[in-house]
Amino acid sequence: MIPYGRQEVTEDDIRVVNDVLRSDWLTQGPAVPHFENAVAGVCGARHAVAVNSATSALHIACMALEVGPGDLVWTSPITFVASANCARYCGAEVDLVDIDLRTFNMSPAALEEKLELAKVHGRLPKVVIAVHFGGQSCDMRQISVLGERYGFRIIEDASHAVGASYLNEPVGNCRYSDISVLSFHPVKIITTGEGGMLLTQDDNLANRLRVLRTHGITRDPAAMAHRPDGEWYYEQTELGFNYRLTDLQAALGLSQLARLGDYIARRRLLADRYDSLLAGLPLVTPWRDPDCSSSWHLYVVRLDASMAARRADVFSGLRRDGIGVNVHYIPIYRQPYYERRGLLRANFPVAETYYSGALTLPLFPGLSEEQQDIVVASLTRFLK
Ligand SMILES: *Cc1c(COP(=O)(O)O)cnc(C)c1O
Repeated sequence: MIPYGRQEVTEDDIRVVNDVLRSDWLTQGPAVPHFENAVAGVCGARHAVAVNSATSALHIACMALEVGPGDLVWTSPITFVASANCARYCGAEVDLVDIDLRTFNMSPAALEEKLELAKVHGRLPKVVIAVHFGGQSCDMRQISVLGERYGFRIIEDASHAVGASYLNEPVGNCRYSDISVLSFHPVKIITTGEGGMLLTQDDNLANRLRVLRTHGITRDPAAMAHRPDGEWYYEQTELGFNYRLTDLQAALGLSQLARLGDYIARRRLLADRYDSLLAGLPLVTPWRDPDCSSSWHLYVVRLDASMAARRADVFSGLRRDGIGVNVHYIPIYRQPYYERRGLLRANFPVAETYYSGALTLPLFPGLSEEQQDIVVASLTRFLK
């Protein structure tokens, strides 16, 4: 089976993880801040806070922005469920903004229209979570303009987008947001097994995130209610979690990060190659936003309307040929959990159109050109 995504683990990666295993620190040691500083540097953010998954990162990002019961959080319907679940962990309700059919990202026009209506009804969101689908940034400039106008905070779910850039600056520098979130799951751009990172320019948010990551505990006397009893003293000031990344994972992440540029160059080369190999087939290849340089986490084609009815057969045929095609994503509002919370398909016509024809083709640095040719040959056969 040619998978749709796959990690690469080198002998160097194995060596650095081995070194941690022989060291004094399996967790809460020096590898975590090393990794944090390196990611902060690559992404151009003042602070980086490592956690055990992007899901955990999204949860404490919402907490740090004071999301709670009675609040609304808006995100894109075409994303992994974690982008929405974080709001529910905080007791807030989720609503969705329809996508742009070219980028598959949240449409700034649909967002503006929905905000205007929400203002009339007094139901404006507290936080908007912008998801950089497939590694291509949302229109963050426009979303941040709307954030100022309608008074919401912004989280970037950049789980797909480490190494991408927007208006010639790295995604993750939070120029247009409060917090950005990265994922290091093995199908993403670089991996720590499981893992995630929060990025922010804000000193107070960074401190709060560090406290929430580790049980709500602080060791900073300035943040304490009581005078320290002695050097052992710490205080739990609020309810946090154990969302820490281990040193084993951080060492792996740091080693992987050294290859970030190579990975993205390879993904881009394969994406360019798909574009030319697929020309002439009844499908739409990914649109490239001139404001963005994508990290190419996903290569998604949309079958033409004439073919979309046969998408399930095309999918099954490709899988039988050993090609791990996928569909990203089943829209959030189609998930029974969210249907029960009142989200209606009829409100998201563009996401429905997208979902009816979307197909993710294999794309990862270790994909060979021969394998890519096999994918294209098989797809061509099923689209005949
Ligand atoms: C993978 C992913 C997540 C969750 O990441 P984990 O690290 O697996 O928790 C969240 N949002 C998006 C858009 C993702 O693709």
